[in-house]
Amino acid sequence: MDSEKKFQCECNNKFYASQKSLEMHKKTSFHRTNMATKDNPIQLALTYKCECTNKEYSSKTTYNNHLKSAKHQFWDLKKEMKKLKEELTRKEIELGKKEGRIQMLEDSNLALLNELSTVRKEERRRRKRKKKSNKKSVHIRDID
Ligand SMILES: [Zn+2]
Ligand SMILES: [Zn+2]
Repeated sequence: MDSEKKFQCECNNKFYASQKSLEMHKKTSFHRTNMATKDNPIQLALTYKCECTNKEYSSKTTYNNHLKSAKHQFWDLKKEMKKLKEELTRKEIELGKKEGRIQMLEDSNLALLNELSTVRKEERRRRKRKKKSNKKSVHIRDID
C-alpha cells in the first residue's frame, strides 16, 4: 500500500499506477495548471494559450513573445480581416435590402405618378370637351 503512495501527485492527490504514468501526468498542462494554481491562485485565470497555434505557453513572457511574433500578428490580421469582411457582407446585405425597398418605393411612386398624369389628362380632356360643348351651346344660342 505504501508503494502506491509514491505515485501520488500533489497537484490533485490522485494515485497513478506507475512512476511512468505519474511522470506522464506531470508533463500535462492539467498538472502544470494545477501546480500553478496551488502556488498562486491568481494564476488560475491566466492560461497562456493562443488560438492561432492552439498552444499553451509556460509563462507570460513566452506568451507575450509569441504575441509579438510575425506568425501571430499575421493570424491576428487575418482574423481582423475576416471580421471586417463579415461586417461588410452584413452591411451590404442590409444595404441591398434598403436599396430594394427604395426601388420598390420608387416603382410604386412612378406608378402613382403615371396614374396621376393619366387622371390629369383625362380631366383636361373632359374640361376641353366641356368648353367645346359650352361654346357650342353658346354658338347654338347665338344662332338662335
Ligand atoms: Zn499533478
Ligand atoms: Zn498567437
